[in-house]
Amino acid sequence: EAALARIDEVEERVRSFITLTPELALERAGRVDERAGSGGIRLWEAVPIAVKDVLSTRGVQTTCGSKILEGFEPVYDASALRNFGGDMIMLGKANMDEFAMGSSTENSAYGVSRNPWDLERVPGGSSGGSAAAVAAGEGWWALGTDTGGSVRQPAALCGIVGLKPTYGRVSRYGLIAFASSLDQIGPMTRDVRDAALLLQAVAGHDPRDSTSAGVEVPDYLAELDRGAEGLRVGLVTELTNIEGVEPGVREVVESVARRLEGAGASVEEASLPHAEYGLPAYYIVAPAEVSSNLARYDGVRYGLRVPADGVHEMYRRTRNEGFGAEAKRRIMIGTYALSSGYYEAYYARAQKVRTRIIQDFRAAFSRFDVLLSPTSPTVAFRIGERVDDPLAMYASDICSIPANMAGLPAISVPGGLSEGLPVGVQLMSDHFTEPMLLRAARAVE
Ligand code: GLN
Repeated sequence: EAALARIDEVEERVRSFITLTPELALERAGRVDERAGSGGIRLWEAVPIAVKDVLSTRGVQTTCGSKILEGFEPVYDASALRNFGGDMIMLGKANMDEFAMGSSTENSAYGVSRNPWDLERVPGGSSGGSAAAVAAGEGWWALGTDTGGSVRQPAALCGIVGLKPTYGRVSRYGLIAFASSLDQIGPMTRDVRDAALLLQAVAGHDPRDSTSAGVEVPDYLAELDRGAEGLRVGLVTELTNIEGVEPGVREVVESVARRLEGAGASVEEASLPHAEYGLPAYYIVAPAEVSSNLARYDGVRYGLRVPADGVHEMYRRTRNEGFGAEAKRRIMIGTYALSSGYYEAYYARAQKVRTRIIQDFRAAFSRFDVLLSPTSPTVAFRIGERVDDPLAMYASDICSIPANMAGLPAISVPGGLSEGLPVGVQLMSDHFTEPMLLRAARAVE
């Protein structure tokens, strides 16, 4: 009730949600209360939560921020929600860039979400609605997804915690696909302890997702309070001392490095020589996967259908009216990059870069436990500032993309302020070392 009252109070200004589900939330909360009374709930089941509109929710409209899925009601819940026993206290479906492509929520077909710190600024993206909801107190937690930074960057811009788990840690079954080799579901919360708890709820092997890892789920709370003593931290030069990173952001990252040192960690410079090629390689790999994944929206199977004479004309009109400009841009880039004659020059080359990035990380993790960098090169930018310049928008992801390319866990934690706006610092660690990553993050906050 408190969460719903807060939504009533601020949602008109913040606009975090595409769909609100207050009756459903109250009904389920009632059932959770009953079960709690008889002794049987897990802590996370009692927390009101916003769910990014890319996750399938049974009987609740799931649009992916796109007109092409308007009115679509999935017939099942995403596997990531299964540990809530069907009674997740979901407040609603959070706004996002269309098909999770973007860094500001300005690509949503349902309007822009606002940054609660300054309503004239973007909350980041693509999980901008999720981040805005948590930052504005509309519920306690949110789930987002991160393909190139979409959990971490909005978390950074809204002053909250955002964690992208190891690729394969959380099932993608029921998560509407953007770039399948990169997508991962992650918690967005006010502090690191909550992120650990929400990860506990969504992690685990799932036979329905062939990329889900058969690795046992550890206790994510166990190591949390062990402090930074003895941690070997590498400050990544190529993601910190580069053009485009605002001086105010760099200062916060450096102050966090000193704070970690003060807490008993060792901090040294680390190098990821190919990290700077992550961005261009991602913008080949991700669109390539998009061009394939978005082929299913044909007006036959889901959502929008624009009637026409003949099936090809129906496809054409449906996709023309249903997809926004960024989705179309990516489909075209991806189709081109995969086409015969260009495949070797673009896609195959980008995959080679990806391998280099993985090798860089492997070398770095032989010396360091965690790697430190900014999450986003800038603080929250103004609404409209980058909409006409896709490359400026893509530059938001320069620091976050390498972890996706290598499938690594990475977290953004509020590190301080610059110009009165929140700055997130990013910590990355080796595959499946989330307990240690969370411990390091806890030492920062
Ligand atoms: N901003 C990046 C993009 O537009 C990342 C999006 C994401 O992580 N879903 O592709």
